[in-house]
Amino acid sequence: MNRRSLLHTLGTAMTLASVTDARSFVRALGDTTTERMPVIFVGHGNPMNAITDTPFAKKWEAIGKGLMPRAILCISAHWETRGSQITAMERPKTIHDFGGFPDELFRVQYPAPGDPSLATSIAEATHNAIITDHEWGLDHGAWSVLRRMFPAATIPVLQLSLDVGKIPEQHIALARELAYLRTKGVVIIGSGNIVHNLGRIMWKGGTHDWAMEFDAVSKRLIEARDLTSLANYRALGIAAQLSVPTAEHYLPMLYALSLAQPDEKLTFFNESIDLGSVSMRSFVAG
Ligand code: ZN
Repeated sequence: MNRRSLLHTLGTAMTLASVTDARSFVRALGDTTTERMPVIFVGHGNPMNAITDTPFAKKWEAIGKGLMPRAILCISAHWETRGSQITAMERPKTIHDFGGFPDELFRVQYPAPGDPSLATSIAEATHNAIITDHEWGLDHGAWSVLRRMFPAATIPVLQLSLDVGKIPEQHIALARELAYLRTKGVVIIGSGNIVHNLGRIMWKGGTHDWAMEFDAVSKRLIEARDLTSLANYRALGIAAQLSVPTAEHYLPMLYALSLAQPDEKLTFFNESIDLGSVSMRSFVAG
């Protein structure tokens, strides 16, 4: 790929001053463009999906069987930082960031490698709007899904954190800067839950009306690619406010949808509400 086409691929925001970034980007990913890889939003829900054959986990397995990415970039609800960070270690550790679950779940390891050169190139391509991290690893938002989707754990995995200082529109803008990765063999996965209110879980069955209402509203807005309304979710009424009491499980959906191209087919899966107040609604674009 020559410089002109590379700059075209990276988008018009790329300036001449960033040719150094482009060179390291080429080093990390190679100069060939691949078929566009899908971008996926996964409602991860209960961590037990990692070790239980639920219908949700079965669907994750089916999706993974059709994919052979060069690397996986996961935006998980469970890694919040000041400033956006990307994991850049050779061997990310498996983080068991929960309590009250069986020992079997704490024994799970997901020994996928990292990819420090890819992480560095992403940081450089975004002019350090994303900085590299050497401390985190893979939290359960990532590994509970990836363990089912890519059980061999041989594909390099990077995690991108959620910057608590950003408003939704800024998360969307950052996500769009990562679009070039999709034609470089990288599958991008947002992992959260559109409706996620653990304080209102119904252990004995049933589903809150407001959870069903906001799940349906969000489906319609996702189908319409209406990122403006989705970013302003708090203005969507009481059902939205009850469904998204905190932003961290919702934001990974915004990353995934921001990375879907307008002409791409978008397919929903796991369209149900678990535990009364956790929407498992997921989608794949591409
Ligand atoms: Zn979670």
